[in-house]
Amino acid sequence: MFRFSDWLPVDGFCDVKTAPVTYKSKSLAEELGLLNLYISFNGYWPEKGAYNNSCSFKELEAVPTMLRMQEKKKKGVIQVSSAGNTGRAFCEVSANTNLPVIVVVTDSARKNIWTTKPAENVLLITVKGDYTDAIEFGNKVCTIDGVLAEGGAKNPARRDGMGTTLLDGAITAGIIPDWYFQAVGSGTGAIAAYEMSMRLISDGRFGDKLPRLYLSQNDTFAPMVNAWKDKRREIIPDTDMPDAKNAAMNVYSPVLTNRTPPYGICGGLFDALSATDGIMVPVSKEKAESAGSLFEKTEGSDIDPAAAVCLASLIEAAEDGIIKPDETVLLNITGGGYKRAKEELSIIPAEVYAEVPAGEGIEGLSDEISRWVREHA
Ligand SMILES: *Cc1c(COP(=O)(O)O)cnc(C)c1O
Repeated sequence: MFRFSDWLPVDGFCDVKTAPVTYKSKSLAEELGLLNLYISFNGYWPEKGAYNNSCSFKELEAVPTMLRMQEKKKKGVIQVSSAGNTGRAFCEVSANTNLPVIVVVTDSARKNIWTTKPAENVLLITVKGDYTDAIEFGNKVCTIDGVLAEGGAKNPARRDGMGTTLLDGAITAGIIPDWYFQAVGSGTGAIAAYEMSMRLISDGRFGDKLPRLYLSQNDTFAPMVNAWKDKRREIIPDTDMPDAKNAAMNVYSPVLTNRTPPYGICGGLFDALSATDGIMVPVSKEKAESAGSLFEKTEGSDIDPAAAVCLASLIEAAEDGIIKPDETVLLNITGGGYKRAKEELSIIPAEVYAEVPAGEGIEGLSDEISRWVREHA
């Protein structure tokens, strides 16, 4: 990904193979009747040159974030909260760079936290609850001296890292795409695509039109879909995500269940959707499952459930004629290749340091974590 280093808020580079990989689809494109379908594959797929060993585009965020931390010479350890993929990505980058990280995930995501090399500098905590419970406990961990919040969507290294998918897509297609398709949880990836498009327009070589964002969420948990339907900047919890916690814990793709996304804030997803005349749709489990199978059949790799949600939204948009056959589409397959990774790489489960219930205070653990931070910072 460091061929885009001029576009990233870092000076140096890390010796990793993490990168967005774009290719023009034949088989899936034919199935959908699209002439210019570009797939941004962010996972593990050696034949395509895709070596995000942790199998998702979260690695594109983790690499520049960890490097920037090191370059800024901030004394401390970075903390990330995750529904699974972000945590695994940061653990993998930590395993490769030896930079320390504190990861807080939901109990149900614990099986998804593994690395392909031994991770000696990871402190993993699991929380019995949903993604937002993990975020809340993570925030408490950040009150400990020397623990630094990674910042989520507010961290430019994360946004620009994810934005490399749009850069690679535009370079491969020769033009900024007409449409950018992604399933969203926080919306950071889509904000990143929007920001990168503006920068590409100033660059001038790839056209002067912003891509329209076409975004999707699970139909059973879709706060941003519901707020955007009314063109509302505020998410109203009772209206847009009734019984949020239960709903969030029972979805097809858990990585899309942030209850407090950077939607309404200035420069957030609402602004990105407004600027790009964006569309947001809900997707059912059935449609996502069949989209996932279609991808595997036509293109040849398994994909993350979130990417299947996204593909289902593209299938529907193509069928409904929202996308014209000759328009350029960038389909962000945000994760995939788990089957191959499990066969070909050594998968080392991360060790859990502590388990806590949802809503737990930090007092019981703060001395131990402080000590770990002093040893690793
Ligand atoms: C995190 C994630 C998403 C959603 O990305 P946001 O930037 O949080 O909206 C989509 N797909 C996969 C595979 C993810 O891991």
